[in-house]
Amino acid sequence: MQGKIALVTGGARGIGRAIALRLAGEGADIAILDAGSLELSEQTAQEARALGVRAMAVRCDITDYDQVVEAVGKVKEALGGVDILVNNAGITRDKLALRMSPEDFDAVLSVNLKGTFLMIKALYADFMKKRAGRIINIASISGLMGNAGQANYSASKAGVVGLTKTIARELASRGVTCNAIAPGFIETPMTASMNQDALQEALKSIPLRRMGKPEDVAAVAAFLASDGAGYITGSVINVDGGFFMR
Ligand code: NDP
Repeated sequence: MQGKIALVTGGARGIGRAIALRLAGEGADIAILDAGSLELSEQTAQEARALGVRAMAVRCDITDYDQVVEAVGKVKEALGGVDILVNNAGITRDKLALRMSPEDFDAVLSVNLKGTFLMIKALYADFMKKRAGRIINIASISGLMGNAGQANYSASKAGVVGLTKTIARELASRGVTCNAIAPGFIETPMTASMNQDALQEALKSIPLRRMGKPEDVAAVAAFLASDGAGYITGSVINVDGGFFMR
């Protein structure tokens, strides 16, 4: 992936960090957009630079289109463009629907679905002009099978799947692919904050009998970004140890 530039949202930690470092390991220059600590994003960028590529971190809340446009502009100015967009940033606010506030619903939809759309919108014209590009959206098996306590999250991730397929259709004639990855249970700060009893129970239903690692997701993202995946678009690839088989 030498000469390619990858932008990863939510790349300060967890799955996004693993994806950024995997793509850097394969030679891509890296831009990390994250709403959290710039120090943490900078740390990932520093680790990427240690792998011999250019890397930068920009603070950006992807729910705010002005911030998105400004951040994308900074990346284009510093690195020269974006070839691979990885929409990874996401949040949970789990509660049974009975107790879920309208604000909890909006907040999760806003980051996971609207934020993904805004990032794609900000780069859409560039991808069209370039007649090349890769968009990789991080969905979730929760968006495919539903999950009690995640009405907001599963709706947002199901939305990401629909968005992925629509963008795949819109940009296919321009040589741009758009695919989604649906992770199962992956060891990150997000799952560390979940109810650990429920997590242990879920583990029993994973055929591969372990939680996934961020690197398991990163490997699939690297494949989707590679030349070898040039004939795949509009697909959703599960990375879930067999938890959800259709
Ligand atoms: P983490 O919570 O570990 O990391 C998410 C990152 O996204 C954080 O750095 C967070 O920053 C950032 N972020 C949150 N909101 C915004 C925003 N508005 N704008 C920019 N950045 C933001 O999550 P994971 O690594 O576990 O998850 C990554 C993706 O994978 C998510 O989309 C998640 O839904 C999905 N996923 C994860 C699974 C898992 O088991 N872990 C399973 C299935 C899907 P901040 O410091 O502000 O929180």
